[in-house]
Amino acid sequence: MDRKLTISALQEESGLIFEARSVNTSVVPAVDCHLHTSWTDGESSAEEMYMAAVRSEMGVILFSEHSRKTSIDWFDDFARDVRSLPADTCKALVGTEVKVETRSGDIDTTDEISNNCDFVMASVHRLIDNSGNTLQFAETDPSKAVEIEYDMTMAALENPKVNIIGHTFGMSFRRFKQNPAPKKIKDVIKKAANNNVVFELNSHYHENFLEILSWCKEYNAVISFGSNAHTVDKVGEMTRSLQRAMSHA
Ligand SMILES: [Zn+2]
Ligand SMILES: [Zn+2]
Repeated sequence: MDRKLTISALQEESGLIFEARSVNTSVVPAVDCHLHTSWTDGESSAEEMYMAAVRSEMGVILFSEHSRKTSIDWFDDFARDVRSLPADTCKALVGTEVKVETRSGDIDTTDEISNNCDFVMASVHRLIDNSGNTLQFAETDPSKAVEIEYDMTMAALENPKVNIIGHTFGMSFRRFKQNPAPKKIKDVIKKAANNNVVFELNSHYHENFLEILSWCKEYNAVISFGSNAHTVDKVGEMTRSLQRAMSHA
């Protein structure tokens, strides 16, 4: 079977991603792969977020700025801004978080943008029905939301452009207050591991992060930690949450 090589050697060496099995009470990587800035809907500049990462003793961070196909007019400047940050205490990487835009796993980006990124994160932000129409949240049956989010996530994992699958089931958990069956979450983790896509454990969306981490270990997934920080106080939140939870376990 053709195994997609979505993670490059450089990405592996970045330190942003690691095997779930390497995480334990004494080893909780100090990374944050999910930061937003005032380039889009975040409150603070890249430099302010970077300084917060240094204060929280993060070793590597990814600026996973929201973008879409039409973002070519500013994305270069954003990338330059991130690459001009110091690299001595904390390494800052350029990324983007883009939405899954079809049921077949297409993502909302262009080569020009994705080739300028160290990592491309795909997340489900909108639910799309079988006919390709975007569903309004208010008119979506919560139990169907889980099915749709599952299908779209599984499809995105087939897309070779996707390096990181962002906040799996984030819409179901937070918007629709649903707890997808463990089998469904495990299916995503297993497929991500098989297709060399990094699974993001996200402190904003995954309340049951310890359980999800244990499943990532079960399938030997490569993972990263993300906070979805839009403010400086949240930078590094996934690492801190895990450290707290593991010290009390
Ligand atoms: Zn998102
Ligand atoms: Zn985000």
